Amino acid sequence: MSKISKIPSVFLDRDGVLNEDIGYVHKASQINWVPGAKEAVALLKNQGYLVFVVTNQSGIARGLYTEEEVEHLHAWMNGELFRSGGSSIDDFRYSPFHPDFENETYANFKDWRKPNPGMILDLMEKWPVDNLRSFLIGDRQSDIKAAEAANIRGFLFDGGDLLTFVEAILASR
Ligand SMILES: [Mg+2]
Repeated sequence: MSKISKIPSVFLDRDGVLNEDIGYVHKASQINWVPGAKEAVALLKNQGYLVFVVTNQSGIARGLYTEEEVEHLHAWMNGELFRSGGSSIDDFRYSPFHPDFENETYANFKDWRKPNPGMILDLMEKWPVDNLRSFLIGDRQSDIKAAEAANIRGFLFDGGDLLTFVEAILASR
């Protein structure tokens, strides 16, 4: 068995971190990039981090939009990131689940809905994540709780410029 070295990773919430959270964002025309967001992803990739998105998307359980639309949007976002900074998100996870709209299709994603850590843990299984050197950035306490439940540090982003925020985190490590 070959030895795979572990890689420090950053888990980003999507709405309110990469794009403005205007509620139930599911198409490209609704994406207003947070200032410094594209540059922050490029910086993290250039520093050797794996970069992931972990996003609650209860709009799917609510019937407001489909999984296909979310996946299409994420592919579009990655295209935008690549065109602007030459790098993109390594992998996306979204949770379609919402407790008020339980149905069999999405029941398996209950543990993926933040504050549960399921999306982070799934990425940790699929990628060689160095847990000790990894962290999450989110704009809600539920993001931070999910990070803590997955045993990584969580940083609460309360708006402003994401690049500045990420630079401060990297400088402190
Ligand atoms: Mg958010």
